[in-house]
Amino acid sequence: MTSLLPRPGILDVHPYVGGDSVLPGMAEVIKLSSNEGALGPSPEAVATLAAAGRSLHRYPDGSCAELRRALAERHHLDAERIVCGNGSDQLISLLGRAYAGPGDEVLYSAHGFMWYPIVARTVGATPVAAPETALTANVDALLARVTDKTRIVFLANPNNPTGTMLPRREIERLHRGLPHGTLLVLDAAYAEYVDHPDYTCGLDLVDTAAGNVVVTRTFSKLYALGALRLGWAYCPAAVADVLNRLRAPFNVNAAAQTAAIAALGDRTWAARTLRHTWEWREWLHGHVRRLGLEAPPSWGNFVLVRFPRVPGRDAATADAHLRSHGIIVRRQAACGLPDCLRITIGRQDEMEATATALEEFMRTAPCAAE
Ligand code: PMP
Repeated sequence: MTSLLPRPGILDVHPYVGGDSVLPGMAEVIKLSSNEGALGPSPEAVATLAAAGRSLHRYPDGSCAELRRALAERHHLDAERIVCGNGSDQLISLLGRAYAGPGDEVLYSAHGFMWYPIVARTVGATPVAAPETALTANVDALLARVTDKTRIVFLANPNNPTGTMLPRREIERLHRGLPHGTLLVLDAAYAEYVDHPDYTCGLDLVDTAAGNVVVTRTFSKLYALGALRLGWAYCPAAVADVLNRLRAPFNVNAAAQTAAIAALGDRTWAARTLRHTWEWREWLHGHVRRLGLEAPPSWGNFVLVRFPRVPGRDAATADAHLRSHGIIVRRQAACGLPDCLRITIGRQDEMEATATALEEFMRTAPCAAE
């Protein structure tokens, strides 16, 4: 027994569980469980990393100056207002720590990224989920749940795990409806994958809004550098200042900084990965729909598939079937979607193997209630 207790709320946290990457007894698996970049990292980023090994005794640049300059140039931003983090999840945590605490509320969309309610609880705040419409964030429902205690609204756009997104006018309407003292965090981890003319990841809103919008981005998805942990936030000056006070002195390692600069410069690799993802996202979406399964349109690098609530045909059984073929996707029960599996877009051979296994599952599974 110990009398040592953490702050209230922390023991209510269910730790975040990442996608599985191994299956017992299988030497090789097809890992489609964590929305990692389909083709792996840029060869230029990999080469840069190898060279960086010789300087491992040096501390990294704690301010990520060169990386912030490269990001600012690419996105036409003010480098002083970019803050880099050990993954965008770290930046989301720091925003929680900075702007919410006991007695406050943190608002998010019901099937939003699972990290948001965890962050709320870790700082002693109350997570509040707003219902969605057709697996899409509903601005009216979000605004209806804003109270004088709401300190942060987290919105992933596009959202993980649903893949759905809100167009610019809806994001603007959400922002207009928020008090100036409430921070709107637009989590644009999947921004690069959106090919829709009405989309904004929100970077322009950071400048034009009332100083209460932050956009977070990541190198874990299109740039396929998840292992290195690198995200960045574009902030109003006052928020950047707060994050810089809170973050650890060397929160982004040197390998991540150098590889990210190389990855950003390798436009050919990024364009190739993007084209591939679009092609196979459409292909997989069409395939599951033809099998009679529901799947909302996805703007990310994954497809969410809903299985019938029929014993033998349900998501849990489908998951087990895929695993028996060495394919790991992500169940979504923890996110309130027990009927769904989320399938990341991988290489062509991985997509074809998954499609074949799903087809076999739908052909052979019992049709009890039909
Ligand atoms: N936001 C969303 C919506 C995500 O899906 C993820 C990763 N799954 C993250 C943020 C965190 O990404 P990272 O910490 O790797 O930058």
